[in-house]
Amino acid sequence: MIYLDNNATTKIDERVLEEMLPYMKEEYANPSSMYDFSRKAHNAIKEARVKIKDFVNASTEREIIFTSCGSESANMAIKGVIGYNRTKRHIITTKVEHPCVLNTYKELEKQGYEVDYIGVNSSGELDLEELKNKIRKDTALVSVMWANNETGVIFPIKEISEIIKTRNPETKFFVDGVQAAGKIPMDVQENGIDLLGISGHKFHAPKGVGALYINSKTSILPLITGGHQERGLRAGTENVPYIAGIGKAAELAADSLDYELSEVKRLRDKLETGILSNVFNARLNTSITNRVPNTTNIGFEYIEGELILLHLSDLGICASSGSACTSGSLEPSHVLRAMGTPFTSLHGSIRFSLSKYTTEADIDFVIEHMPEVIYKLNKISPFQKELEHLKACKG
Ligand code: PLP
Repeated sequence: MIYLDNNATTKIDERVLEEMLPYMKEEYANPSSMYDFSRKAHNAIKEARVKIKDFVNASTEREIIFTSCGSESANMAIKGVIGYNRTKRHIITTKVEHPCVLNTYKELEKQGYEVDYIGVNSSGELDLEELKNKIRKDTALVSVMWANNETGVIFPIKEISEIIKTRNPETKFFVDGVQAAGKIPMDVQENGIDLLGISGHKFHAPKGVGALYINSKTSILPLITGGHQERGLRAGTENVPYIAGIGKAAELAADSLDYELSEVKRLRDKLETGILSNVFNARLNTSITNRVPNTTNIGFEYIEGELILLHLSDLGICASSGSACTSGSLEPSHVLRAMGTPFTSLHGSIRFSLSKYTTEADIDFVIEHMPEVIYKLNKISPFQKELEHLKACKG
């Protein structure tokens, strides 16, 4: 199997699993209990919190709250900030956020909040002028993803935070960092971030654990009320093994960042060039330079993405069309639509996302087989004239 769908989820690192196992077996105590037996579980959480603090460069580990996933982190940040600042009814976000953010704003709109959705250009880059002009006195929150899950495009977080602080220093800044974690350096202080969400399963921890950074100057209302856990901001007995796992994964991700930025990027670029130069109806759907090192998104004109995925799957290749959440529906990607991707390739766009486990042989295999897959599908496309024309133009 060749797994090129790492933006959907990643394989657990063996070292992460090793870190978790004791807390699933012998060290099963409730970390809040008073007896000695609970000390190891308690300390595991403490250590993981420090590791996440270091991973995002928070100023203290008190700023880290453990959650169950990236979606929960986003919901907690958004509803938490909005709930705490009830008088401010305006929010700014982008048209290309993940559904866990977009659908949360759709709900808030139904409750009477006003939400502005900032657009992107054809390379997927954000319109900062539009953002600048939208910030108002009653803007409670600006919410922008760090890296896009479909295109990998990186948004200029520092520049955005500077714009916010100049226009309205009271506006809070939430960054969905789920697709940036483990792929590019993340420094919340350097980038002026108030809240940052991450999700363990995107960087080789298991599914079911995430974290939210909330800086000490930001107050939120809790999403889950109950016990005193997580400073009263997220009640519920802590998931000790998974928290230990995300801590270890963060430590490992920091260590392998240079590898991501050099070797994973080299393989991604090789894959991209290999496909673009061998398939006449392939076009790049993302910014060439400004994106995370593991992602490419390629449109195959006049053919269906789902058919491409099925043929790739027959060859043992896992990739995706759109985001993991929207694939399975025939709706074209909201991200590609916001970018104005031409109709001719909107339905035939494929995302390949690599990881530290991707090998040269994996990439060579895909480059070798992609032309024959597309050749077969071109032959059954209803757009024969258009394909002929395109082929002639590419010459
Ligand atoms: N944000 C982005 C950018 C994502 O890509 C995803 C998942 O694909 C999420 C949030 C949601 O993360 P989770 O699946 O952990 O809830």
